[in-house]
Amino acid sequence: MSVKRILQLGDPLLWQECDTVENPASTSVMALAEDLRDTLLAFRSANGFGRGIAAPQIGEPRRVIVIDAPSAGFSGALVNPRIVEQSEKRVELWDGCFSFPGLLVKVSRAAEIKVEYANLTGVQNTLEATGDLSELLQHEIDHLDGVLAVQRAVSPQAFCTREEWERRGSE
Ligand SMILES: [Zn+2]
Repeated sequence: MSVKRILQLGDPLLWQECDTVENPASTSVMALAEDLRDTLLAFRSANGFGRGIAAPQIGEPRRVIVIDAPSAGFSGALVNPRIVEQSEKRVELWDGCFSFPGLLVKVSRAAEIKVEYANLTGVQNTLEATGDLSELLQHEIDHLDGVLAVQRAVSPQAFCTREEWERRGSE
């Protein structure tokens, strides 16, 4: 268990598609999930925000994400998560990322999704998500495909520094 350095925008590892995990119940996946959780919690206590992290952000190109968002209805590790259904209804929101913490990007996401994943005991699960949890899962699963929120910008003007966003009342 340890806090890892978070790769920053510009690091080519963030653009790589990650490998499927062969054995979700292995000790190495358990250790990776613990590092992700430690790193997420350390980032949040230092920065005051953050609810999800993906393995490539700590330099591990494997399909594992960790969510810690009890208020949005879920906390835990998802191995090989896959969006199997999504609503036609979409929502626009300002999205942030540990890999560019000073920048927000306005993106469009499906309002509701259904995700299949394995947990750390290797059991296959289904999660139906709406609202914040839906957006968060889409952001983290994008990381596993080497896709960052900056590529999802809805327009060339869809960027805001966090400082300016807060000055504007997080609208
Ligand atoms: Zn991110």
